[in-house]
Amino acid sequence: MSQTVIITGASRGIGAATARQAAKAGYAVCVNYLSNAEAAGAVVADIRDLGARAVAVQADVAHDDDVLRLFENADRELGPLTALVNNAGILEHHMPVVEMDAARLARVLATNVTGSFLCAREAVRRMAFSRGGAGGAIVNVSSMAARLGSPNEYVDYAASKGAIDTFTIGLAREVAADGIRVNAVRPGIIDTDIHASGGEPDRVFRLRDAVPMKREGHAEEVASAILWLLSDAASYSTGTFIDISGGR
Ligand code: NAP
Repeated sequence: MSQTVIITGASRGIGAATARQAAKAGYAVCVNYLSNAEAAGAVVADIRDLGARAVAVQADVAHDDDVLRLFENADRELGPLTALVNNAGILEHHMPVVEMDAARLARVLATNVTGSFLCAREAVRRMAFSRGGAGGAIVNVSSMAARLGSPNEYVDYAASKGAIDTFTIGLAREVAADGIRVNAVRPGIIDTDIHASGGEPDRVFRLRDAVPMKREGHAEEVASAILWLLSDAASYSTGTFIDISGGR
């Protein structure tokens, strides 16, 4: 059976690496992005160079209308959905909780939590046995921050990933009998652009010595775990987590 995956936030970082690995594993890939059309186009071009099918779709996962359009586009361009990677995520500048306002909290929770719920909802509507679907797999991209709390950096972001961990367990149990597996990865310090969003592009280098393996991780190492969880090799795993954090 042909495999089709939507990967949110696939223009850069972990999402882009996952898109490229998914194409190599035989998936047709929907590359979602927020604003960087050029980066998304480069990922699609790489996938097409491999002889695989891909389409880039701009959509803000925090907005219901955008999410509906994203999934309709993927249906039309690539065919029946078999997998979703809820990867899009943001963080804001380092700040203690005592200075955070409601607008910041709303932005972080809207993308990281609401976005993952909305995309999972659309995936379940398409994949559930009880709705005429053929089953499938969802992987949520959480973070080791969910366990560490990210004090003095972004407790709001860490809490949003705590919500993703709970969401993963709950949804996994809710849709297991519908043939859908739901798992999550918890990356540690991975070398991507996200650290610049926090105001510290070199954060990876400051923190690498605190990692037992004494190095940062790479997007491809997270992508490999995501692809395993999506695959039939993980057929008896649901509601579970893979930490990719060098032992931290
Ligand atoms: P990144 O390099 O900053 O890339 C973020 C991606 O998300 C981009 O493709 C961006 O699109 C997209 N995006 C942002 N907001 C979006 C929205 N509202 N709707 C749709 N797409 C949106 O991030 P990353 O480091 O690869 O992180 C990916 C995931 O891994 C996130 O969930 C993050 O929390 C998690 N994570 C990362 C690390 C790490 O150390 N890097 C550690 C733990 C967990 P544009 O290119 O269009 O802006």
